Amino acid sequence: MSILNERAINNNQIVEMDIYSSLFKSVLFPGYERIKGRRTSSLLTAAEDRLHWPLEKIEQYQLRCLRNLLQYCHQHVPYYQQQWRALDFNPQELTSVAQLAQLPLLTKQDIQDNYDLLVPQDKRASNYKKSTGGSTGRPFHFELDKGSYESRQAIMWRGYGWGGVGIGTRTWYLWGVELGSQSWKAKVKDDLFHRFYHRKIANSFALSKDNFQQYIDQINDYQPKAIVAYVAPLYSLAKYINEQGIQLHQPQVILTGAEALLEYQRQEIQKAFRCQVLNTYGCREFMLIGAECSQQHGLHINIDQLVVETVNDQGQNLKNQVGDIVITDLFNYGMPLVRYVNGDQGVISQRRCQCHNPLPMLESVNGRKLDIIRSPQGTILPGEFFPHLLKDFRGIERFQVRQKSLSSLDIFIVANDQYDRAVQDTINGHIKQVMGEQLQVAFHQVSDIPLTSTGKHRVTISEL
Ligand SMILES: [Zn+2]
Repeated sequence: MSILNERAINNNQIVEMDIYSSLFKSVLFPGYERIKGRRTSSLLTAAEDRLHWPLEKIEQYQLRCLRNLLQYCHQHVPYYQQQWRALDFNPQELTSVAQLAQLPLLTKQDIQDNYDLLVPQDKRASNYKKSTGGSTGRPFHFELDKGSYESRQAIMWRGYGWGGVGIGTRTWYLWGVELGSQSWKAKVKDDLFHRFYHRKIANSFALSKDNFQQYIDQINDYQPKAIVAYVAPLYSLAKYINEQGIQLHQPQVILTGAEALLEYQRQEIQKAFRCQVLNTYGCREFMLIGAECSQQHGLHINIDQLVVETVNDQGQNLKNQVGDIVITDLFNYGMPLVRYVNGDQGVISQRRCQCHNPLPMLESVNGRKLDIIRSPQGTILPGEFFPHLLKDFRGIERFQVRQKSLSSLDIFIVANDQYDRAVQDTINGHIKQVMGEQLQVAFHQVSDIPLTSTGKHRVTISEL
């Protein structure tokens, strides 16, 4: 077949894809949602419309939604009734979102200890029950109501949309798939469902260096317009593609999620797939919190869905500097989480983005607090240090750094045959240079490093 013919076929495919995408968004998806009795489609339209508002109008909307939520908590949620009694807090008097800071923070531990008090009586039977692996591997449970589910779906699709992966876009997902074997009926049902949504899901948990080629073949066969992926598996696939000099189908954009996207990982993935890689930030408790636009410079925060704050150790609000991320979901009336500390750190700024999206910016999401490594002299190393240091050693397949005491560090390494004592000594030298001679570094060669229950690979774990 001549190149021209091939190109004509590809162009036809692209046109067909675009027709399906717009048909899906305007007809199929709204119809499907209506049958299911859900409002996601109209909420998505409304959420997209809000991006044409000036920021001040969105902030007023956020304030109204916050006031309604707090009023509801005041009347129906026993936990907040108890907590706020001593404060003499009246939600009706709330005149700015900043006043939220007078309320106490809510930790995972608070939720575990007061679970029943946080779920309003009349929501118990109808709530959706969810759980996460939790950063410590201890399961964490929470609930949400139907309205919250619809609203977060809409916000997710809007965020993916400004990255170029709107609903109905032909997308290849490299994502965590439920473990355990499915019946063939369930598989067929899943496959049809994903086809309807115009997407194909590849299991990121099953990716290994022995089957990289199968994943590449799948991308070439499926010809996706976009890729949505976990960072670590896509990065290892990209490294393989670059090392082997493989030319593969070029998507228009890649969105990553579930883990922080570090700059060297972005570079490697962009080189392999020859397209922009955009970061998203979310967590299971709230779904999409923010997403990058094509400027690739910070994430736009969904302030019409959430109140996102950053605070210091005293719980005071911060701007333009690193703080603990604190989130209030404006629409989860099933189990309202007010000022929830989600365990991540980030920087919120007042910078306006150059693009047309009015939503404010989360400049960066830093490593989880647990992931910071400390030296006996008080040096603080962000978790990112170790991937930077270890990425260039070919003998290391995977690693994990654990700190149990201030004076010692354990490094677990899954090694290949290129790993030897000299590699270990070099790494040891680099760490001592930064952290001081007093720090004891112990290396352990292991056959595997377990993933967390949500399929994330934790690079550094501090147990201090
Ligand atoms: Zn932007």
